[in-house]
Order: sequence, then C-alpha cells, then structure tokens
Amino acid sequence: MQTIENIYPLLSHPKKVVVTMHQKPDADAMGSSLALAHYLKQFGHEVTVISPTNWANFLTWMPGCKEVLDYEAPNDKAAKAIAAAEWIFCLDFNTLSRTKRMEEKLYAAKAEKILIDHHREPETAVFAYGISDTGKSSTAEMIFDFIMASGGEDKLTKEVMECIYAGVMTDTGSFRFPSTTASVHALVAKLKQKGLEHSHIHEELYDNFLENRFRFFGNVLLNRMEIFYEYNTALISIPQQDLIKYDVKTGDTEGLVNFPLSIKGIKLAAIIIDRGEERKSSFRSKGGFDVNTFARKYFNGGGHFNAAGGANKEPLEEVVSKFMKAMEENREQLSSYQF
Ligand code: 5GP
Ligand code: MN
Repeated sequence: MQTIENIYPLLSHPKKVVVTMHQKPDADAMGSSLALAHYLKQFGHEVTVISPTNWANFLTWMPGCKEVLDYEAPNDKAAKAIAAAEWIFCLDFNTLSRTKRMEEKLYAAKAEKILIDHHREPETAVFAYGISDTGKSSTAEMIFDFIMASGGEDKLTKEVMECIYAGVMTDTGSFRFPSTTASVHALVAKLKQKGLEHSHIHEELYDNFLENRFRFFGNVLLNRMEIFYEYNTALISIPQQDLIKYDVKTGDTEGLVNFPLSIKGIKLAAIIIDRGEERKSSFRSKGGFDVNTFARKYFNGGGHFNAAGGANKEPLEEVVSKFMKAMEENREQLSSYQF
C-alpha cells in the first residue's frame, strides 16, 4: 500500500470513481463518503457512492444521500459501477469482509483500491494507496486532512463541510471522547470560519426519531439490561420479538449501548441484538479495557480500543453465555477498576 500523498497529483485527471463504506453505515461512514464524493466531483471525476446495505433514516438529510446506491437493492447498478470503476475508495472500514455481500465484487474489481480509515489492523495487501490512522477521531476528520493536504481548501463547500461535521461530531460522541484532539477543534473552527451552520446537524441526527423508539428504549432499560457490579459491567440482550413488537428500524438501536455507561462505576457496556440472520453485538468501555481485542477474541469482530462490535451465528442465549464466560475470563481486569 503506497501512502495516500501519492494520489494527490493524480486527482486532477478525471476518472470513474466508486466511494464505499462499511455495511449499515453510521454518520461517519456516510458523512466521510459523501464529503469525499462532493470533493472529487469538483475535479470532474464521475463518482458513485455505494453502501453495502441500507442505512438509518436519520442520515437521509445529508447532501447527496438520496443518490447513494444500496448494494442490496434489486438492481445491478452498484455492481456495474464497481466493475467499471478505476478507483474504489474504501472509507471507515479496513477489511473487505465489512462490506458483507459486496466483498467478492470488491476483490474481483480491477480498480485500484484506496483506504482511508481509523480502525485497527488494516488488510493493507488489498489496497494500492491508503492511510490508516487509529489516532484519528473519525474518517471524516481524515477526509478533511485529505482535502487540506491535497490543496483543496477552496473546495470546502457547504455540502462537504456538513458531511464532515456530521462524521466528526458523531464519532467523537459530540466532542467528548478522548479522541477529540486539538486538531478536531481546529477543524471545527475552520469549518465555522467558512460559514458552517452546525445546530441543524445535531437536530437532524439526534432529534428525528419516532415515538416507538423511545417506548422500545423504555422496555430495554426496564427488562433487558443486567448490571454486574462486581465486574463493573452492563449487558443488554434483545430478543428478535422486541424488534418486531416495537417496529425497530435500521439505526433505531444506535446509541443504546452507551446508556449503561452513564451508571456510576460501569466501565464495560455490551449489547447483543438478535437480528434474525445473526446476533450483532456492540461493546463500549471507559478507560483501560480494550474492547477491540475483546470483540476479536470472542465475537468475530473488532473496532477501536473503546468501541467495537462483532457478529455471531449462534442463538442469542449462546452468545449471552459466551459473554458471561468472557466476562469471567477477564474478571481480574474488569473488577480491578478504582473509583
Ligand atoms: P458499533 O458498535 O457502533 O456497530 O461499532 C463500533 C465500532 O466497532 C465501529 O468502529 C465498527 O466499525 C466496529 N465494528 C462493529 N461491528 C463490527 C464487526 O462485526 N466486525 C468488525 N471488525 N468491526 C466491527
Ligand atoms: Mn468511524
């Protein structure tokens, strides 16, 4: 994988470009992809943005989101764009398996693949160019750096800035996580100087849900959450019947895993959701417990030090007992937190 600077001189030669992201994209995956697409189009590139799956409703306000192709839609537009592409940018993921059914098409594509990502352990052999930096708050921040370093400050349009802000703001937990560096605040200052209006972005992302989501949260907090104080750990497990009963849609469970972390003393929070085809888990920690390693070891997953996820094929009860065993195996570290 050559370093990313090597493509800056090539940006001025228009190409057929695909920008893609991880399955079930969050605001960082979608925001960084759209920001890059808006930037590249200003050079005359023909850009198609593809998501491996559908996405949450609270992302549809993003400029350009309505033109994003869903690889799982019943047509071959996305597959054709991948086959025809000369460049494929892979954003906010670093192993092709994170693109689900698109994985094989990406391996088969003749295009040069370009990585821009902030997760651990990238599959570098697959990429012609790239940058992988776990020190970055978000992929959206990396797109900002990419634009500035390639001399594109004058191309920071309203569309580009709104998409970048959405990714940085959500991946930093509204600028509270330790990943919120001075550079992140400098980035926001730059966007504000250039006229970004930020308040409506918070509203679009966080104040746009339906009543049923809150009824569902109420049910989860009352009936589906267990606290293990001796391990400083909380576990939420959600059977599929709850998703049906409360008409839970893609994105409705986003953020739920963070709730138990605001209970005094809780350092590890886990959620396991029975999504029918698989049991999807999310892990969040505060301080020194490495959930990336935890997710890799027990739940076929990965992510960051303090935020990771995984997926299992076993029934929900088995994944829950797997979690209990994993918690027990990590007893020493989990129980040793000082308050
Ligand atoms: P979330 O819990 O919000 O779905 O994801 C948290 C972090 O873990 C994200 O950075 C995401 O990319 C990563 N992650 C989530 N699920 C998986 C998974 O199944 N495999 C891997 N490798 N990473 C995941
Ligand atoms: Mn991200």
